[in-house]
Amino acid sequence: MAKLAKKIKKSDPAPDGYSKIEPTLKKLQARMKEAQTSSGVSDKTKSKTQSLWIIYQLNHQISRYVYDMYYKKKLISRELYDWLLLQSYVNSELIAKWKKQGYEKLCCVHCILVSDKNHKNPCICRVPKAKLLENNESEDKIKNLQCVTCGCRGCASTD
Ligand SMILES: [Zn+2]
Ligand SMILES: [Zn+2]
Repeated sequence: MAKLAKKIKKSDPAPDGYSKIEPTLKKLQARMKEAQTSSGVSDKTKSKTQSLWIIYQLNHQISRYVYDMYYKKKLISRELYDWLLLQSYVNSELIAKWKKQGYEKLCCVHCILVSDKNHKNPCICRVPKAKLLENNESEDKIKNLQCVTCGCRGCASTD
């Protein structure tokens, strides 16, 4: 009979293999901390929205790193992956979306929330570039496109 893996808890010590990915994770977390601290401070070169973009982007980057290490590079164990998903610095909601067809490159979960006060439809960054061209949007506009929520420049799977 196959041995059932024991269910991992958030409070469990880091499973084997963690030391391999720890330096990168720590580096990204430090940048996140810095971004969170500086988003409270007024910076004349950046708007409030733009400092929030960095936080969204780092959140994406940390989750992407964990996702790639498990699904793409297969360098970490299921146990370690499960444990990482339980940690608060990983966005498991976003990772769950990446597994769905059409959402492989999704920037952040807010951009597909249609009830969001920012937009009644999924965000502009979710619309494939080809579709924008079809709708006669100017190439310039398409090139400079950036969503208001997280600063994404396009995350449709076909782009
Ligand atoms: Zn996006
Ligand atoms: Zn987004």
